[in-house]
Amino acid sequence: MPANKSLLVLPGDGIGPEVMGQVRRVVDWMDKRRAVTFDLAEDLVGGAAIDAHGIPVTDATVEKAMNVDAVLLGAVGGPKWDNLDFSKKPERGLLRLRKDLQLYANLRPALCFEALVDASTLKPEIVSGLDIMIVRELTGGVYFGEPRGIETLPNGERRGVNTQVYTTSEIRRVAAVAFELARKRSGRVTSCEKANVMESGVLWREEVQRLHDESFQDVELSHMYADNAAMQLVRNPKQFDVIVTDNLFGDILSDEASMLTGSLGMLPSASLGDVDETGRRKAMYEPVHGSAPDIAGQGKANPIATVLSLAMALRYSFDLAEDADLVEAAVERVLAKGIRTADIQAPGSQVVSTGQMGDALLAELEAMAA
Ligand code: NAD
Repeated sequence: MPANKSLLVLPGDGIGPEVMGQVRRVVDWMDKRRAVTFDLAEDLVGGAAIDAHGIPVTDATVEKAMNVDAVLLGAVGGPKWDNLDFSKKPERGLLRLRKDLQLYANLRPALCFEALVDASTLKPEIVSGLDIMIVRELTGGVYFGEPRGIETLPNGERRGVNTQVYTTSEIRRVAAVAFELARKRSGRVTSCEKANVMESGVLWREEVQRLHDESFQDVELSHMYADNAAMQLVRNPKQFDVIVTDNLFGDILSDEASMLTGSLGMLPSASLGDVDETGRRKAMYEPVHGSAPDIAGQGKANPIATVLSLAMALRYSFDLAEDADLVEAAVERVLAKGIRTADIQAPGSQVVSTGQMGDALLAELEAMAA
């Protein structure tokens, strides 16, 4: 069968190559057993690219990333490169990819697997069945707004300045991603800002509402102040389906929501950009966790966050919802059997290595496909 989906794999540093190794096994399995084949290329990013090329990502790698259906990244960074100048650090490779691909919508699901209900710090009845998607604007807002800086005033005092700034188009494009996602889910969007105290929040609310009224009336839209959303996320998180918010509030709300469900080793993410003239949307998928130098090379890393990132790529870049469902079901079934890596171990569970978790996932995929 001809390859029909192109995927650039960037394992990176630390546990990145270990977890990506398991993902490649899932990709190979799909090549053989499902109606999809992958044209897969692998390249260097982060410390691995610094060691090979002296920079955290080369122009050639960025060019490749621009021309594939999806990029799948492991993690970057580690103590070996900690003392490099900020502009040369491994993390710059990741930031350059996000910037050059103009990935403005960051998607972070908070999904509670039934077998891990007890891993949450909240009561089981609050998190059981939880399935939220946070859409954070990633390339604008107060992290990039000008003027910014620290200045010394005539009286000797110092003054720090950052500027929260959004334009109509920046708000509309990320809101459109949220509305489209809601259509594939429960059909509800909550937009969060601080329109009670910030003009940029007033604009955000007006533009999201206008886009809704123009093009997404089938989706249920509500507005909520971001501080109230932070409170509601721990009080009654299941009231939410899709949350869309700006860069700053999204940074905070997505960390809060993801931790409702337990371990870092379980959390995938996606960053999406614009759809080009061929209908392809720029996209990069990666686990939320870093390179975990404390456990790198020991076979202890949980590969599930990266496997679930592949599932997101199947769903959002490749439009293969059934295959994404299959991968997520394999994770659910492995966890239900009590098979766990050390980070998610529970009393009575069987603690396995990274490779053994991969074995268990493949066995479940095979069992379901049989
Ligand atoms: P981290 O996410 O790497 O690790 C935090 C803790 O969680 C560690 O104890 C680690 O062992 C554990 N952990 C993380 N992923 C795990 C997994 N899959 N399975 C089991 N346990 C897991 O964060 P950190 O320690 O703050 O950062 C380490 C390095 O990673 C730094 O160089 C940092 O800059 C980099 N980093 C990279 C990214 C990225 O590539 N997107 C994100 C965050 C941090």
